[in-house]
Amino acid sequence: MMPRKIAYGANAASEFQYPENSLVITTTTPDIYEKWLNYMGIKKYEIYDKVTPDPAIETIEEIKRKYEGKQISAYIGLGGGSSMDVCKYLGKLTGIPKILIPTTFGTGAEMTTYAVVSFDHKKKLLQDEAFLADAAIVDPYFLPGTPFNIMRNSACDALAQASEGYDSKLGNPFTKLFCKEAFDILDNAIMNDKNDLLPYGAMLSGIGFGNSSTTLGHALSYVFSNEGVPHGYSLSSCTTVAHKFNKSAYYERFKKVCQKLKFERLTLKQSLDEAADVIMPDRGHLDNNPIEVTKQDIVNCLDEIVNKNPLQ
Ligand SMILES: [Zn+2]
Repeated sequence: MMPRKIAYGANAASEFQYPENSLVITTTTPDIYEKWLNYMGIKKYEIYDKVTPDPAIETIEEIKRKYEGKQISAYIGLGGGSSMDVCKYLGKLTGIPKILIPTTFGTGAEMTTYAVVSFDHKKKLLQDEAFLADAAIVDPYFLPGTPFNIMRNSACDALAQASEGYDSKLGNPFTKLFCKEAFDILDNAIMNDKNDLLPYGAMLSGIGFGNSSTTLGHALSYVFSNEGVPHGYSLSSCTTVAHKFNKSAYYERFKKVCQKLKFERLTLKQSLDEAADVIMPDRGHLDNNPIEVTKQDIVNCLDEIVNKNPLQ
C-alpha cells in the first residue's frame, strides 16, 4: 500500500492544489509555519499548532471535538512525525482525507500505515489501513535549517528502516526493490555530503519498510528510547548489532554511515536482564526478524551495545 497521490520534488508543496477550508496541524511555532504556509500558497484554512511530540489520544480527541461541524475538507499534517500521526489518527476517526507533508525527513511516516500515539503516557505503535495518507507531499524545500542532530537521527532511522525492512521475513521482491534503492540513495547522501537526496531516500524507505516491517534493531532500540535517547540515535548502535547478529548484507555499510555521522556509545540504566524482559514481548518486530531470537541473544546484543563499542 502507498498513498493514492505522491507529489515529490522541488516546488511539490507550492504547486499542490490544497482544498479550501483545510485544517493544518503542526508542532511548530507561527514564525516558522507562516513562512511555510506562504510558500505553499494555501488560502482559507484553519490551523491547530498545539500538538506536542509523542501526541496523546486526548489531544487527538480534543481536536476532533473542536472542529466538529466546521466542515473541514482535509487535514494537512505539516511537520515531523507527531503532526502526521495526529492527522492519521484523526482521519481514521472522522473519515476526512489527509494530506501529509514531512518537514524533517527520516521516518517515512507520510508513506506508511503506522502511527505512534500515547495512551496513559505510554507510546503505542499502531497499524491501520485507515492511517494511509490520501496524498503525501515530499518537498526538499523544508530541509535547509534542519539542525544537524535532527538530520542525522532522521537519516539513521531511514537507513535502519530500509535495511531492516530489506531483511524482514515479510519482505518480498517489491518491498526489497524500494528498501535497496532507499539504502543506496541514503548511503550516497551521507557518505558524499549530498543532503538534498535525503528526502527522496526517506520516502522510498517508507514505502519499502512500511510494506514489510522493521526487525531486531528496532526492537532493541525501544529500551533506550524509554530512557530518553532519540529514536534515530538509538538505532545507530542497535541496528548495527542486529545486522551483525543477522549476518545482514548491510552490516558494514550501515556501520560506516553511523561512524561518519559520529554517533557515540549508548548507556542503559536498567539491567540487561530487565531490558531483555521488556524487549521479548515485542513480537511485531521479533517475529519478522530473519533469524529466531532468544532472550539470551537479546542480552548478548545489549551487552555488545553498552559494554563494547559496536561502532568502533
Ligand atoms: Zn524507525
